[in-house]
Amino acid sequence: MSQQRTLVGGPGQPPVGPATSAGHILQLLRSSPAGYSRADLLDITGMARSTLYERLDALFAAGLVYEATPLRSQRGRPPRALRFDDRDKLVLGIEIGHTHAGVHLLSLSRDIVASRRLPIDIGQPQEDVVSRLMEQSRQLLDGRRPVGAGVGLPAPVDPLHRLGLERTVLAHWDLQRLQDVMEASLDCPVLLENDARSMAVGEVRHPFESLVAVKVSTGVGSGIIVRGALVRGAHGAAGDIGHVRVPEAAGRLCRCGRDGCLAAMASGRALLAAPQFAAYRTLRQLVDAYDSDPDVRPAVAEAGRVLGRALAAIIGTLNPGRVAVGGLVGVLPDFLQACRRQILDDAFEPSLVDLEVVPADSRAATAVGLCRLVEESLYAPERVEQMLVQQAG
Ligand SMILES: [Zn+2]
Repeated sequence: MSQQRTLVGGPGQPPVGPATSAGHILQLLRSSPAGYSRADLLDITGMARSTLYERLDALFAAGLVYEATPLRSQRGRPPRALRFDDRDKLVLGIEIGHTHAGVHLLSLSRDIVASRRLPIDIGQPQEDVVSRLMEQSRQLLDGRRPVGAGVGLPAPVDPLHRLGLERTVLAHWDLQRLQDVMEASLDCPVLLENDARSMAVGEVRHPFESLVAVKVSTGVGSGIIVRGALVRGAHGAAGDIGHVRVPEAAGRLCRCGRDGCLAAMASGRALLAAPQFAAYRTLRQLVDAYDSDPDVRPAVAEAGRVLGRALAAIIGTLNPGRVAVGGLVGVLPDFLQACRRQILDDAFEPSLVDLEVVPADSRAATAVGLCRLVEESLYAPERVEQMLVQQAG
């Protein structure tokens, strides 16, 4: 009899020992790009050969595993590596911003195959925005069917409970309908996630990293990763730092209806609303004037400083190894520098040891993060089990 072992050590913890369902074997193969031989899998899982081979047969039949070239040359027949079959599987990553959207087609190995960027107005009816995004997606896909799609949204997203969107920029949207319409249009599962959280996932460089990714474009939001696990919070609002109150913003009205929010100071919307920038119609125009308009750099630096103040509290709480700042405003050098300086001033020294405050690769990171999230959700052991049962039935 094969030994049943525990898979998960606790919330957000990596597996502590192998479990033996086909879904778990696929998870094991996904964790190793080089793959494992059958002998490796028998060793690691402690399963009976017949049981393992039965599970592998089901995974082969579902197109989830393939046999790669021999692992190493040996006397006799060299063992062949079994790998997760990520070949020819495409994921669509759609970032929805306040004024622009990015539609990206990625391979499961995270290469961006093709991208489109289009202006949108998030204030428009949901149907209008979505039909344009679907049109762009169909063009990029050119007849191919993605295995899944991820959508990054500039609002708190609760994948399970559909957190209310009142007082957010998506107040007039219905996320359940968004998911239904996209799934029908793309003929694949669609996952919704907050944009800054997607970016944070895309920024992760090693499995046990702790990092905070901040996106400062029209709005401001963050994504938190603790020891490799994405923190969503009890209702999906974790990292929504835009509405933390900061003294510098006292008396300034935020779009959420309160005053004194971080977003009323340290966001693209706040910069664009400043009287000295009345001539700029879009955030892009203001950002493009970074070198030519002498008012831009000091204003951007002040916004970065205020963000640094709010981040210092998060850094003291979580002790991340890296803060990655992205978004149209976030990557401006004076913004980042002022933010970093304020963090160093405000945060307590033990939380600053080896801390990096660096620009994020925001556009690629968001697409890559969405791709990762889609993969993790699609090929989670329970979901793979369901898929195999459906296919067998
Ligand atoms: Zn607010």
